[in-house]
Amino acid sequence: MEKVVLATNNPKKLTELRRVMAESGLAVEVLGLADFPAYPEPIESERSFEGNAFIKAEAAAKHTGLPSLADDSGLEVDELNSMPGVRSARWAGPDCDDAANNALLLAQLAGVPADQRGARFVCALVLVSPVGERRLWRGEMPGRIADEERGAGGFGYDPLFLPDGEHRTSAELTAAEKDAISHRGKAVRAFITWLGEQR
Ligand code: IMP
Repeated sequence: MEKVVLATNNPKKLTELRRVMAESGLAVEVLGLADFPAYPEPIESERSFEGNAFIKAEAAAKHTGLPSLADDSGLEVDELNSMPGVRSARWAGPDCDDAANNALLLAQLAGVPADQRGARFVCALVLVSPVGERRLWRGEMPGRIADEERGAGGFGYDPLFLPDGEHRTSAELTAAEKDAISHRGKAVRAFITWLGEQR
């Protein structure tokens, strides 16, 4: 593989994959959707991270004619029967922001004791080839939901998430510390390992 498309318009995700790829020493060029003429974004209609990642990767592979990767991620909270899950980004409503999502999650867990606040971040990373072959890598970061927000790093639910073995929230970790244990870091490293084995 000489080129791979990451089906995202998020410049942070693109920078992250390019950095990991460069560190791995693999000579694979990572392109983003901005490198191609725009096409209508597919609707993420599935109930699983894997299903939604597949929809995005397949649409990009068809559009670009190149192997295409897409990720889908979110937070599963035990006490909420694994929700918000695929609804993580819009948990508090269609146009809500991170602050509203975090406030709602805290309210939903009000009074729930520490030993019942288990949760995990999940990332599904899917690769679809131009002829429709697909592969999946899944990464998880287990932890629990804190009683209050702490930290200014990261994004999304990071200020409320205490990774297992940590007293800091994932918003209090450095980017490198979070990468080393995160759901997305694990999935991306598994993909890179597989890619290295294909040579
Ligand atoms: P997406 O798959 O990048 O669209 O992420 C979906 C949503 O899951 C985000 O909007 C966040 O609410 C949540 N999420 C996913 N990964 C993380 C993370 O590493 N930290 C905090 N929130 C996350």
